Amino acid sequence: MIRLDNITLTFPDGDNRVTAVNQVSLTAHPGTVTGITGPSGSGKSSLLAVAATLIRPDSGRVTIGDVEATGLDAAEAADLRRTSIGIVFQQSNLLPSLTASEQLRVMGELGGRRHAEARAAATRRADELLDAVGLADHRDKRPHQLSGGQRQRVNIARALMNDPSALLVDEPTSALDRERGAAIIDLILRLSTERDAATLLVTHDVVHLPRMHRVVRLVDGKLEAAQPLATPAV
Ligand code: ADP
Ligand code: MG
Repeated sequence: MIRLDNITLTFPDGDNRVTAVNQVSLTAHPGTVTGITGPSGSGKSSLLAVAATLIRPDSGRVTIGDVEATGLDAAEAADLRRTSIGIVFQQSNLLPSLTASEQLRVMGELGGRRHAEARAAATRRADELLDAVGLADHRDKRPHQLSGGQRQRVNIARALMNDPSALLVDEPTSALDRERGAAIIDLILRLSTERDAATLLVTHDVVHLPRMHRVVRLVDGKLEAAQPLATPAV
């Protein structure tokens, strides 16, 4: 579960401060996808960064599962991200020299020294996830050998390596045509449900919204309207 309680985030702006997120409260339940929409500059990415524990809000509380993230120091927050949070950013931030399989396996190495057994388990998990995102035959390809849609699939698979309870996805379809974009949204809906992740999915492309479990809209940092839970068309 992701729970945001009365989050406010400001940034310095000359002598003043700009309010990027203004008293936003939002709860996302396991196995559901909450779409976050709104115009450019409305605070969508800022809200996601707060939920991801990458930015500490001025006020308010972030809860991931049963952990109150806003009470953690930097090292504890990094630990929480490593164990419980999956993040997919807009830009594909894959490492150019690594194969698809290596992009996933390197996630496990970040924690430090690994035994052969743990490495074998990471390889099995990477294989399983690349299969789940439809890239079983592409695991040894490097980013330049993959299409934009395939790179985004690697990103999603990588974000799921730690079996996150919270999945945070920012504009995953912005570099893709409509058909490939819809396939990526399908994939996120399916994996969030199957793996019981609470997912926040930022998109300004309204065609994708009816398929989400819930949609909220940000305007000038404020939550404008919340549609009730509906059955998504997947
Ligand atoms: P969106 O993702 O909806 O386009 P953002 O969250 O990126 O919106 O931005 C919300 C507001 O916060 C904008 O006014 C933007 O200029 C401002 N902002 C975002 N990030 C920063 C930053 N690092 N420093 C200063 N202002 C920022
Ligand atoms: Mg943004």
